[in-house]
Amino acid sequence: MSVLIVCPGKDPENWVNELRNQHPGMNIYVYPEDHDNEEVEFALTWNHPRGLFKNYPNLKVIASMGAGVDHILSDSGLPDGVKVTKVIDDMLTEDMSDFVLSQVMNHIRGLHYYTKSQKEKKWDRFQYQRPKDTKIGIMGLGVLGNAVADKLYKNGFKIHGWSRTEKDCENVTSFHGKEQLEDFLQNSEILVCLLPLTKNTENILNADLFDMLPEGAYVINVARGQHLVEHDLMEMIDSGHLSGASLDVFREEPLPDEHPFWEHPKINITPHIASLTNPKSVVPQIVENYERMKEDEPLKYRVEIDKGY
Ligand code: NDP
Repeated sequence: MSVLIVCPGKDPENWVNELRNQHPGMNIYVYPEDHDNEEVEFALTWNHPRGLFKNYPNLKVIASMGAGVDHILSDSGLPDGVKVTKVIDDMLTEDMSDFVLSQVMNHIRGLHYYTKSQKEKKWDRFQYQRPKDTKIGIMGLGVLGNAVADKLYKNGFKIHGWSRTEKDCENVTSFHGKEQLEDFLQNSEILVCLLPLTKNTENILNADLFDMLPEGAYVINVARGQHLVEHDLMEMIDSGHLSGASLDVFREEPLPDEHPFWEHPKINITPHIASLTNPKSVVPQIVENYERMKEDEPLKYRVEIDKGY
């Protein structure tokens, strides 16, 4: 019984070391090193080559290295009956909340603007907005969306949230489903996307949706690049309907040199760092699921493949 780590383009060393520390008896292979496919029952992965897992006749579990599972579920060649798990981790959740709070504060205090005006030695002051006067809309009220809502609420913001199913969250005015999307958007001066990427959420941040936001709204995308129709965002910013955007995720990562987002004065870019998975913090749940698989017990943080998250 072996574990296969598949994470092309990512350094697997910390994962291997942590797994060895926390489960000395575990037999680990790192793809594509030489290994016997029949031995592998558990895979730990990020962006595996499409169709790869079809070649593992005894594979039972595919564990994501992060909170998102779109990189696994978008593979139409997954073996029948395989189970998929995601990460839920306090450190990851807290880091995401801190990041979104920092982007929101940067926006309402104009800090992105001042960073640029310093380069031009410009002493150009303007009035700022205060948290208690700012309505934030969060798309996705799952593990991360809820934590972000809580953090922003505690910092004085007014919070609205949107999810697939109805929610009753303290301190969040909740909306759900397509029929309540417009009401939700009308209350979102700052829109934060924390949806999983599924066939229902792909391209959801498009011109029609932006049109329903209040004039001057700001967009923060920390979910996936494929949620955003990039051209629509640029048009809506350039027409003045949106005041700008903070983007952490992109359709193509790394963002290509020639991409117009790099130079856009109202788009702020970070290289998918809103919340990085920390192997030391996450490996205990991977080890626990490995043991649960061996004992044929229910897995922690299992995702519903049909639902897409
Ligand atoms: P969860 O699965 O816990 O929550 C997903 C939320 O989205 C749920 O509230 C769900 O609604 C809602 N949702 C799903 N589909 C729809 C839909 N069609 N319409 C309306 N609402 C919908 O996810 P997490 O909070 O753990 O993670 C969210 C995403 O954040 C990840 O999938 C990943 O892509 C991204 N991420 C980004 C990182 C970064 O560094 N930039 C780091 C980590 C994650 P309901 O509750 O009704 O089911």
